[in-house]
Amino acid sequence: MGEDSISKKDIYDVIIIGGGPAGLTAGIYATRARLSAILIEKLAIGGQVSLTDRIENYPGFVGGVSGPELVQNIEEQAKSFGMRIVSGEVTRIDPGDEGDIKEIFVDEEPEPYRCLSIIIAAGNEHRRLGVPGEKEFIGKGVSYCATCDGAFFKDLDIAVVGGGDVALEEGIFLTRFAKKIYIIHRRDRLRATKILQERAFSSNKIEFVLDSVVDEIFGQTTVDGVKVRNLKTGEGKALEVNGIFVFIGWTPSFSFVDGIVKRSEDGYIIVDKEMRTSREGIFACGDCCKKDLRQIVTACGDGATAAYSAQHYAERIKGQEYI
Ligand code: NAP
Repeated sequence: MGEDSISKKDIYDVIIIGGGPAGLTAGIYATRARLSAILIEKLAIGGQVSLTDRIENYPGFVGGVSGPELVQNIEEQAKSFGMRIVSGEVTRIDPGDEGDIKEIFVDEEPEPYRCLSIIIAAGNEHRRLGVPGEKEFIGKGVSYCATCDGAFFKDLDIAVVGGGDVALEEGIFLTRFAKKIYIIHRRDRLRATKILQERAFSSNKIEFVLDSVVDEIFGQTTVDGVKVRNLKTGEGKALEVNGIFVFIGWTPSFSFVDGIVKRSEDGYIIVDKEMRTSREGIFACGDCCKKDLRQIVTACGDGATAAYSAQHYAERIKGQEYI
């Protein structure tokens, strides 16, 4: 559903798809450049960051900042320059040819939003384990968000799967509630930043189960345990836990750009350093792009660049000289 005040009669200079740090930063830059711009977000503003308890490496915050506070500030900043936000899910894009007006369809609405340029900042979705019991026990012990569900596991034993920044950060956060936490990782070396590894290793609540994968999540009405298997020895065992938090990365899951822009084998949008996709007038930024370092600070940088490039493009199409 679109907001009443946002007209579908207008042709916007740019429409941003996705309201995480990349999309919101693109919004700040676009509105400050006095482009007419709207942002479309299908869920809550903030994306992955709004589910993060504490962010320590975003510059300007000694001692860190909470994820929800950071995104709320970025959102308010964008709105203060005139950024308007539509709530809805983009289902289809009609890109037209170069210089044509582009159409963006939202939810089941027959009438599209129209624009000269598009910035895709659609982020990613949680990667799933894909083992028996995972789907069945979502919300009954299987979780993908420690901030949302951690408090339900007070004084209980839980498992965390993954060896990256998120698994360790969230595993450490969960020590506030849980009695014991098994961190299950498929290799004997962790991917996470060293400072997080040091903190996790020093916690007396965390036990690492390395070289191991989860084969099954089992239980009656809620999770009672997980079956793990050591990849080196082949030995299997059951861990009795009341919950399992899965933090094994993210994967792009949107399909509205299929056949429109080039994507990598693993589904990420391929962009150049100006954040241009393979299609004229369509730019992309943040975690949905093929890139090495997925951080809030790099997402924001991408967003600024994408807005700058979209500004050049829109003004060229309108025949205005960019100053
Ligand atoms: P990630 O860095 O991609 O790590 C995913 C982890 O899950 C890896 O340890 C990986 O194992 C494991 N894994 C992947 N698929 C698996 C499967 N099917 N079964 C079992 N294990 C599997 O993902 P992330 O931790 O979610 O982080 C995502 C991005 O956000 C990263 O770029 C990260 O640096 C960034 N991030 C930044 C901050 C921050 O700056 N404060 C905080 C959080 C996240 P392998 O190691 O064997 O591949």
